[in-house]
Amino acid sequence: MAEKPQPVRVLYCGECGLPAEYCEFGPDFEKCKPWLIQNVPDLYPDLLKEADVKDADKVSDQLQSTSISGAGSSKPKEEEVKRLPGGKIKKKEKQEVIIEKMTRNKRKCITTVKGLELFGVKLSDASKKLGKKFATGASVTKGPTEKEQIDVQGDISYDIVEFITDTWPDVISILLLF
Ligand SMILES: [Zn+2]
Repeated sequence: MAEKPQPVRVLYCGECGLPAEYCEFGPDFEKCKPWLIQNVPDLYPDLLKEADVKDADKVSDQLQSTSISGAGSSKPKEEEVKRLPGGKIKKKEKQEVIIEKMTRNKRKCITTVKGLELFGVKLSDASKKLGKKFATGASVTKGPTEKEQIDVQGDISYDIVEFITDTWPDVISILLLF
């Protein structure tokens, strides 16, 4: 047999904290109304009739603002988590040589090599070797972060990887950015 819905449910009002059926005697029945309509519509059937379009709007407004504030409180948490990996936490520099190709004035191409020093390579030596190997100009310069790098004239980006790994076997990680 199907259970009969219980005629009386003791529900405490989300607004005033009184048992819902006492709300009308409570401190602010007007405030309770939206909650009552939403949660115990059977208890005050008159409220539903009373609730015209305007009141319905109020209720949905309230519900909306509730969910918005709920989302708002969880948002910073998300950002925090996202910020952690890329944040300004000082972490150990990744041991990696970065080779980047830049074109200047559309014709002039420069291949920059960053990070060789992380593998114990002396940059001035490396610069000389690169210039000689590729018969081009190569120089140690300071990049935008004041870190030294090697600028090699010309597009040698493909051959340079082999040259680096042959010349400096300690270099185990090379990142190509082009
Ligand atoms: Zn109430």
